[in-house]
Amino acid sequence: MDERVDPGACIFCKIAAGEAPAHIVHEDERTLTFMDIFPVADGHTLVIPKAHGTNLLTVADADLAHVIVRSRAVAAAIRRVLDPDGIGVFQLNGAAAGQTVFHYHMHLIPRNQGDSLQIHSRTPGDPERLAETASKLAAALDG
Ligand code: AMP
Ligand code: ZN
Repeated sequence: MDERVDPGACIFCKIAAGEAPAHIVHEDERTLTFMDIFPVADGHTLVIPKAHGTNLLTVADADLAHVIVRSRAVAAAIRRVLDPDGIGVFQLNGAAAGQTVFHYHMHLIPRNQGDSLQIHSRTPGDPERLAETASKLAAALDG
């Protein structure tokens, strides 16, 4: 499960470096929060450490801690903006577990009663909607 990725070719490293586009919700010294471009629900958000680590087993402890604390803040913003029945907060490790981007990241997915528990989508989100939701979530963050 230790899929190796050259950080120079890693899409999330490129987003963190400002070299690839993303609908950014929040940025601090260690983490970046942005909209998933293939959302399984409106408000599907990703939180990543800026530093490259492939998965749970290789990411630095301090980055892991910052990502989960930031994920809780983003979950609170999702609740304020979208008021879903629930919020899935999870991450996948290794291709066999469904991981497709080998830079550690946390998914935050608003879920409503009766929704499927789908974790990936092949349909890109509407860019205007992604931008709108990103700015609403950014505005709803406490800090
Ligand atoms: P995982 O399968 O857990 O590795 O999740 C990777 C997620 O990253 C998927 O939900 C993808 O839709 C999402 N994704 C891939 N490329 C990008 C990108 N350039 N910007 C935003 N999200 C992305
Ligand atoms: Zn990376």
